[in-house]
Amino acid sequence: APAETPQVVVDAHGLPYLNRELPVKKRVADLLSRMSLAEKAGQMTQAERGALTAPGDIAAYDLGSLLSGGGSTPTPNTPEAWARMIDAFQLRSRATRFQIPLIYGVDAVHGHNNLVGATVMPHNIGIGATRDPQLAERTGAVTAAEVRATGVPWDFAPCLCVTRDERWGRSYESFGEDPALVEQMETVIQGLQGRPDGRDLRRNDKVLATAKHFVGDGGTTYGSSTTGTYTIDQGVTEVTRKQLEAVHLAPYQEAVDRGVGTVMPSYSSLDIAGDGQGPVKMHARADMINGVLKGRMGFDGFVISDWAAIDQLPGDYASDVRTSVNAGLDMIMVPYAYKDFTTTLIDEVTAGRISERRIDDAVSRVLTQKFGLGLFEHPYADTAGAAKIGSPAHRAVAREAAAESQVLLKNAGGVLPLRKNQKVYVAGSNADDLGNQTGGWTVTWQGSSGNITPGTTILDAMRKTATTGRITYSRDASAPLTGHDVGVVVVGETPYAEGVGDVGNGHDLELSAADRAAVDKVCAAMRCAVLIVSGRPQLIGDRLGGIDALVASWLPGTEGDGVADVLYGRRAFSGRLPVTWPRSEAQLPINVGDAAYDPQFPYGWGLTTLTKVPGGGLHTLHRLWTEAGRARTAEAGRAAVDQARQIVQQRVGDRITAAVAKPFAEADHLLLGGRYGQAVRKLIEAYRAE
Ligand code: BGC
Repeated sequence: APAETPQVVVDAHGLPYLNRELPVKKRVADLLSRMSLAEKAGQMTQAERGALTAPGDIAAYDLGSLLSGGGSTPTPNTPEAWARMIDAFQLRSRATRFQIPLIYGVDAVHGHNNLVGATVMPHNIGIGATRDPQLAERTGAVTAAEVRATGVPWDFAPCLCVTRDERWGRSYESFGEDPALVEQMETVIQGLQGRPDGRDLRRNDKVLATAKHFVGDGGTTYGSSTTGTYTIDQGVTEVTRKQLEAVHLAPYQEAVDRGVGTVMPSYSSLDIAGDGQGPVKMHARADMINGVLKGRMGFDGFVISDWAAIDQLPGDYASDVRTSVNAGLDMIMVPYAYKDFTTTLIDEVTAGRISERRIDDAVSRVLTQKFGLGLFEHPYADTAGAAKIGSPAHRAVAREAAAESQVLLKNAGGVLPLRKNQKVYVAGSNADDLGNQTGGWTVTWQGSSGNITPGTTILDAMRKTATTGRITYSRDASAPLTGHDVGVVVVGETPYAEGVGDVGNGHDLELSAADRAAVDKVCAAMRCAVLIVSGRPQLIGDRLGGIDALVASWLPGTEGDGVADVLYGRRAFSGRLPVTWPRSEAQLPINVGDAAYDPQFPYGWGLTTLTKVPGGGLHTLHRLWTEAGRARTAEAGRAAVDQARQIVQQRVGDRITAAVAKPFAEADHLLLGGRYGQAVRKLIEAYRAE
């Protein structure tokens, strides 16, 4: 920690850019007109904080930004240490000629997941399952408050990937396979940043958001590895222009309209059919970044590269810098090469290979956000909100999100909800593992199993709920099975962040041998519910017949209580599948709208445990069709579709054929588009097909 006391230096009577009364545009123009090329190059540079060879390098290279990449946390990993660390860096930036504040960024992709003790939300795939945009916004607001309270004003989230093949190891970072669902969940941007005019960003509980990874990160072709180590992450997205627009670009227009402050390009390459270019890395695609994002879509924030992504471009380093900056990147996450980067950038501009206009545009964009965040007036951490980090109020939001994200796929004989006095046998690898329950990007980059941060496991939460002594826990189901009313087997994946996923279990969508054995053993001995804690669907196949109740729990975060809430019926199951649940890996990719569509559970599937489930048959469905078509409010339209869906699900049970699945899934897509009448018509088609 520095000896000096951080002080807010504001001289409104001095240079115009320091005058907070002036419009941001004027302040930016004034500051820019005074800056040297080296100072401008610095503003376009983001270094990893652990890469700084000397703290004085911040001033020596006029660095504009620092980040903590996954797991790059201060010691001890406390809110106070975060704030002190960032203040110390900020103090160094006071030693520059114009005292331009740094902008510090982290990946807070499901809460302030870098910090031990923070509130950890379900990962995005679970948020997609809630189908609840208001709740998504509230999770964003909690995240923003916890992040900003540690002095961090910028979050590299949300991921707007539309996952199209769940063998992709980052599928869990997706709100779902349907672009309309991703768009609906973009309320999280408002939760993070506040209202679209951007003025809320000055508040001490808001952060700048990043829409990532532009564009097509979730659409890479299986096996299209570019790095050799990954089978699909960072691969090639092969699409027609029409698919690109409808599936992958649409969520970005929504984000731009919502005023997202920054956008991060994807590591992947884009191969547009018929454009004659073949696969081109997104960090080099001027047509997409300059042309589509900044041009047609009107994005006026700044573009931040992904981690060392320019190093993956073909050619020497000068060419990497030139190509990416000319393609429209405004700040480069170097993250170690800050010296090389700034000198190379300066050389390229001096040689005329990058125009000064391009540099001025990039720096203006960066400065605009710094002014917008109020960093010139308040560069140092405002820890007023630190007491709320991991607070009961924040955890209550995460608990609600965990509860709403649970998707009940099957419930034969009404096994769920459980009753408090039932004797329950709990087994499986993910019943009592907080690390597995939170997944990747939790405390460390890839996450890890075990008690990594304060929270409640699913088992803890069940024990808190059930009558004392009614729960037996045996992870591997080796304890005697007799005498129990019902089994709850919690299985699934081990944590991972990027790459192929589920490293511990062989990278595929298969459950581990131990989990399969636990399911088989418990379900053979008693009525059973199986909960799958994972970032994506896991293959159940024929096992489904022997399982009474099946729940997709996703990665619910630190609040296992939310899972117990629905298990024990304190609230009804309401989540619905954000992605299609396949029968086998051979079916992948499989998505709503496919011509051939025969999944185990269709997109949008999700039973309820409401005590009053709507009854009725074809007659009722026809009435609902009329109601939906004439609905005057979205609420009325949705209510009619919801009721129709329950009727269909009740009739179909788990006898889901292709003829049922296809219209059923399409109904959910239509619902998102506000086409309620057509949605019910599709549900009638599904009903008739049974
Ligand atoms: C990931 C990004 C992340 C960045 C910074 C990269 O490896 O792809 O999503 O924002 O690291 O940590």
